[in-house]
Amino acid sequence: MIHVVAVGDGVDPDRLDALAADLAHTFGVSCHVREGVLDAGYARDSARNQYHSTAILDRLRGLAAGPGVRVLGVTAHDLFVPIFTFVFGEAQLEGHCAVVSLYRLSEEHYGLPVDEGKLRERLVKEAVHELGHTFGLGHCDDWRCVMASSHGVERLDVKGAGFCGECGRVVERSCAL
Ligand SMILES: [Zn+2]
Ligand SMILES: [Zn+2]
Repeated sequence: MIHVVAVGDGVDPDRLDALAADLAHTFGVSCHVREGVLDAGYARDSARNQYHSTAILDRLRGLAAGPGVRVLGVTAHDLFVPIFTFVFGEAQLEGHCAVVSLYRLSEEHYGLPVDEGKLRERLVKEAVHELGHTFGLGHCDDWRCVMASSHGVERLDVKGAGFCGECGRVVERSCAL
């Protein structure tokens, strides 16, 4: 089971519902949007004006409600880890928690017209990718696989929203547990 939770203000609840539906479809498990918003203020780095994703993961861990539950945080804030200028998201490898940011996924961020369809597609790809890490998957060499690494929206747009055969089998085994 997957729980989706808003992290910080500015995340549209309808967007979370749509994401939950997309994730339920991809993983074949139930996906539930949790009430309320997890405060992210403590994770803010004022010098960078960004939020430290690893600190958010630590807090999300406290929300994991059982061994089979994955918790996915969704934030409108820009995320970073110290070695990168930004990240789209971060996950605990073989853990239970992941976080993704909408901040750099919208067309508006790049000065382009609003494209809701594209944003939804990018969000689900990034969410599936980070959740894939929680199932122990590393980055995949198949560029079409959702587990291909993508540190830019162009790369995110060319890859698929689903797992390649090999990655899919790993997730299937974990979901069947
Ligand atoms: Zn990754
Ligand atoms: Zn793959």
